[in-house]
Amino acid sequence: MSSLKRIYDKVPSYLQNIGISIYGIKLYRERFDNDFRSYKKFFHESDSWSKEELLKYQENRFLEFIKKSCYESNYYREKYKNIKIRDLLKIEQIKILPIIKKDEFKKNVNEIYTISSKNSTKAQTGGTTSGLPTKIRYVPSEFKERMAYYQYFREKLGVKNFKKRATFNAQTIISNNHTNPYNIFWRKNFVLNQRYYSIYHMSEENLKYYFNNLNKYKPVSIDGYPNPIYNLAVYMKQNNLRFKFQLKAVFTTSENLYDFQRSLIEEVFNCKVYNQYASAEGAPFVTECYKGTLHFDIRTGVIEEYKNGAIITSFTTSGTPLIRYDIGDIIKFDNDRICSCGSVHPVVSSIEGRTGEQLIAVNKSKIGFASTMAIFRFLENDTVEDCQFVQKDLNKITLNLKTINNKELSINDKEILIKEFRKRFGDTVELEFKITNELKKDSSGKTRRIICEVS
Ligand SMILES: [Zn+2]
Repeated sequence: MSSLKRIYDKVPSYLQNIGISIYGIKLYRERFDNDFRSYKKFFHESDSWSKEELLKYQENRFLEFIKKSCYESNYYREKYKNIKIRDLLKIEQIKILPIIKKDEFKKNVNEIYTISSKNSTKAQTGGTTSGLPTKIRYVPSEFKERMAYYQYFREKLGVKNFKKRATFNAQTIISNNHTNPYNIFWRKNFVLNQRYYSIYHMSEENLKYYFNNLNKYKPVSIDGYPNPIYNLAVYMKQNNLRFKFQLKAVFTTSENLYDFQRSLIEEVFNCKVYNQYASAEGAPFVTECYKGTLHFDIRTGVIEEYKNGAIITSFTTSGTPLIRYDIGDIIKFDNDRICSCGSVHPVVSSIEGRTGEQLIAVNKSKIGFASTMAIFRFLENDTVEDCQFVQKDLNKITLNLKTINNKELSINDKEILIKEFRKRFGDTVELEFKITNELKKDSSGKTRRIICEVS
């Protein structure tokens, strides 16, 4: 991958488009086959099931998942050795299983895996939920099930598969070293009918190119992180600009979507915004229905409300089982509410996780949490537990790191972080590392992962 990426970064944009499209063929073959179609069909069809039928499905799937994980994962076998898994007959008994904290999960991930890296599908995760990426290995068929769910969610909101799609996510599709005389900040995937827009070049002066290109491209939907999409909406509002085409929907994920962001995007883009939680990060699905209500889909796992967080069990993670995993985000349910959309899946009143703050790149683009966190997925050693970026100067950012046993990062890992950081924030930016036990918290006790004092 890294040598291919090096070549990719050096070739002209039309070759990059071809490269992305060839990659698209690979993705297409891996993901959109008969399995994908039958999973998608299943989700649409089981929408008409009664609540009892859905709960029964959830329970069966849960029991099967726990038994399989216990059998296949060294870690869970050991962890549950004093628990009679055979006696587990009801989903309510979930509480006899211990909760796993994030740091414990990270430390033991090699023992948790049930499949080799070679036989797994790796997701293009950006940041993770409220913390740092852990490398989740998916069993390929379960990854397809997740993709099918995501597409089922989009279809319910009127967006068919392979309709023109504009994506704003963490991918570094344009190298900072690349000369860009024609101001082209996007690349095409002809196979998936998707255009990726670089979120690392959305400076005030470049935004007009993004706006003009979207007007030419006329996508059916826009998807990605809320921050870059919101930044584009602010620019359009300030300059009194509107799209010359009608969008069907905007789909956001991976960062907190604030009400002020949603209302501005909906006003300026003249379409609805639908939020969705954690599709790329292994968690069960929480998605918005056409009435604008978040529902936790019980076909995809179990979510338990928990003090300052949420405990998740995710059925599509047999490759790296997530069982009673303390994910760190706060998921609140509104158990008494029945949504007028007709869905019997529990209503989620709020999800709080990822900070909405942004850092500023040398080219003045504002870059949000999920895109910044993406630099960690390239590390060789999984020793970082938590982090905080502090920016006091455009060209210098301090990265406070909490690591397992206060270990220093290896030279190689430091180089990887600097390289990935510069790809996103500019070649001249300096990244200073500090290992610390205490990361600054806000008044509610949550770690502030991005502190930006540059305006
Ligand atoms: Zn609903």
